[in-house]
Amino acid sequence: EPAVDALFVRRWLAEAAAVVDREAVHLTELDSAIGDADHGSNMQRGFRAAAQEMEQDPAATPGAVLAGIGRILISRVGGASGPLYGTLLRKAGKALGDSEEVAPEQLREALRAGVDGVAQLGGAAQGDKTMIDALAPAVEAMGFALDKGASLVDALAAARIAAEEGAAATVPMLARKGRASYLGERSIGHQDPGATSSALLLGALADVAQD
Ligand code: ADP
Ligand code: MG
Ligand code: MG
Repeated sequence: EPAVDALFVRRWLAEAAAVVDREAVHLTELDSAIGDADHGSNMQRGFRAAAQEMEQDPAATPGAVLAGIGRILISRVGGASGPLYGTLLRKAGKALGDSEEVAPEQLREALRAGVDGVAQLGGAAQGDKTMIDALAPAVEAMGFALDKGASLVDALAAARIAAEEGAAATVPMLARKGRASYLGERSIGHQDPGATSSALLLGALADVAQD
């Protein structure tokens, strides 16, 4: 089992930045169907800046790394996703306090606090065709797995699958929040870009735990 310490979270950030780079064109394509064609570039700008800053000035605790990334995303990403992902990570970071290393259950609680923060800020519930449709089932699946005695690696693998399924499940949904909601019925039939990027971020977390 990997230790969830500052290095672990910095490795997650580096992997997240890499996967966002690889998938940026796809994320922007999804956003061109039901938004303004900038989700890939928004995510790329934010995660590149965060990865660069964490390399130059690495924070020393998992909570400080997460809160730091959150702050950078809020200041560097113009779109709706910047404040939302920024809030997710800042709240998660705050929930971890200043422990040097945290238990899987604490990570789960921190992610739950982060997702609650996103829901509060954006006002979206599950089924509204947003990042919440990937994030909420992922945190639930992680908790369910840990409650059954699963390892961190297995719990994060379950979270990743739930996020990917959650993102896929946004295709038939009618968007009720964000730019896609302006399209009304025409938002149906397209996968939500933010739910897709959320699945990528959770996939990166599962990968880092497994290495
Ligand atoms: P913008 O829409 O400002 O261009 P992005 O394209 O970067 O921002 O991000 C769009 C994504 O943000 C959407 O696909 C959706 O998942 C997410 N989103 C937008 N509004 C909300 C909201 N109110 N609550 C949760 N997520 C939202
Ligand atoms: Mg957009
Ligand atoms: Mg935009």
